[in-house]
Amino acid sequence: MANEITTKKRAPVDDTKYSMDTHMIYGKDVSDKWDYSHHVTAPISSSTTFRLDSVERGTQGFMQFANTELLGDQAPIFIYDRLGEPNKDMLEENLAYVEKGETAVSFASGMGAISAALGILTNSSDEIITHTTLYGCTISLFNNWYPRYKIKVSTIDLSQPKNIFNVLTEKTKVVYFETPANPNLEIVDVGAIAEIVKEVNKTREDQYQIKIVVDNTFATPFCQRPIELGADFVIHSLTKGIGGFGTDMGGVVIGKKKYRDLLLLYRKDFGAVLNTKSAWAILTYGLPTLAVRLRHQIKSAMRIAEFLNSHPKIEFVNYPGLSSYKYYDLAKKQMIDFNGNFAPGSMLYFGLKGNSPADTKEKTRMFMNYVADNAYTMTLAVSLGHTRTLIEHPASMTHSVVPPEELAERGIDPGGVRLAIGLENTDDILLDLDEALRII
Ligand SMILES: *Cc1c(COP(=O)(O)O)cnc(C)c1O
Repeated sequence: MANEITTKKRAPVDDTKYSMDTHMIYGKDVSDKWDYSHHVTAPISSSTTFRLDSVERGTQGFMQFANTELLGDQAPIFIYDRLGEPNKDMLEENLAYVEKGETAVSFASGMGAISAALGILTNSSDEIITHTTLYGCTISLFNNWYPRYKIKVSTIDLSQPKNIFNVLTEKTKVVYFETPANPNLEIVDVGAIAEIVKEVNKTREDQYQIKIVVDNTFATPFCQRPIELGADFVIHSLTKGIGGFGTDMGGVVIGKKKYRDLLLLYRKDFGAVLNTKSAWAILTYGLPTLAVRLRHQIKSAMRIAEFLNSHPKIEFVNYPGLSSYKYYDLAKKQMIDFNGNFAPGSMLYFGLKGNSPADTKEKTRMFMNYVADNAYTMTLAVSLGHTRTLIEHPASMTHSVVPPEELAERGIDPGGVRLAIGLENTDDILLDLDEALRII
C-alpha cells in the first residue's frame, strides 16, 4: 500500500569498509542534522532563526544548547544561527571525522578559531609557549592583544622540543604551534612535544594540565593528523586548503568532546560565526575534493621543488618532500596521507641567490614583479590552498607585522618567496617559473 512507503534513513555505514577519500564525499555517516530523503547535495540553510512549535520546545532548545551531555544523540533543536544550524553542524561532523577528533566547532575565519581555542584554554595571567615562526596575524594577536589580558607568550624554537623546559612555568597552559610553519615550512615534531607535555602533566592537577594546540592549515588533514600524533586540539583556516577554491572564509577547532560546550559558548558570545553559505560551500566543494586536489598538488609541488632545487639562481628551497631538506626525516614520519603514503603538502618556500643582501632583495623584487605581470599560472596574492598557484613575499606581505630586525629570528628570510601550488598543469607552472628566473 502506497501510504506504507515512508521515507527512511540509509543503513549506518561501516567506517572501516571504505576509504577516507570516499568518506569525505559522503560524510561520516547519515547525518541527523538534515533529512536527506530528498536531497543528494545538502540544501543551503538560509534562515537566521528557527520556528519552535511550543514554549516548552524553546525552553528545551535553550537548555540543550552547549550542553552536549543533555543533548545526547538526539537531533538538536535549532534556535538561532549564531547558536547552531544544520550546515555548520554537518560540516563540523565531517571535519572532526577527517581530523580523527571527537568534535569540531566552526568559526568565521582561521583567526576566529585560534582566538576561540586559546580563549577557552587561558585565563588572565596564564602563559602560552609558542614557536618562533607563525602566521603573521597570530603573531599580531600575541603581541598586540594578549598583553592586555596579561597572558604571557614565550616564543622559542620548538624545532628543539626540549627548549620547552627553558620557559615552562606553573602558569603554562598551552603549547601552540604550526607545522609546517607559515611561511618557512619549518617542521615541529608533534610526537616529541606530546611526550614532554605528557610527562609534565603527570605532576599537575586537572585544571593545570597543559594542552597542545596545532595549527594544521598548511598540511590539511590529508597530509597530517596532529591529534593522532598526540596534540589535544587542531585548528584550521578553512579559507585555505580545506575550502580549496578561494571563495569562502572559515575556521575550525577540533578536539575532545568535553570542550565542545565551551567552544560553542565562546562562539555564541564573541560572535565569530561561520556563514551558512560558506559552511555549505566547504561541505559541498571543499572537503569532497580535498583528496583529489592534494594528490595533484603534492605531485606538482614535488616536481617544482626539484626544479628549483637544481636551479643555479636559487639559494635554498624548503619543501618537506625534498630529501635534502633539513626536516625531511621528521616530515616522513608525521606527514602521511590516509593510505599511509608520504604527503609533504602543497607549499614551498625558496630564496633567490644574490651577491649581497641588497642584491638578493632587488632580484626578488624584479622576479616577483615579472611574475605579477607575465606569469599566467602564478598570481601574486596571499592565501594558499587555491585552485590557482599563488606566490607572495612574506617579509613585505603576510608577515609584514614582523619588524625587519626580527625577521631572521622569526625564521623569515628577507628575500624568501612563498609558493602555494594550485591545480594547473605542472609543466605550465614550470614554464612560467623558468621564464621569470631568466630575467634576473
Ligand atoms: C591564513 C592562516 C590563518 C588565518 O586564517 P583566516 O581564515 O585568514 O583567518 C591561520 N593560520 C595559518 C597557518 C594560515 O595560513
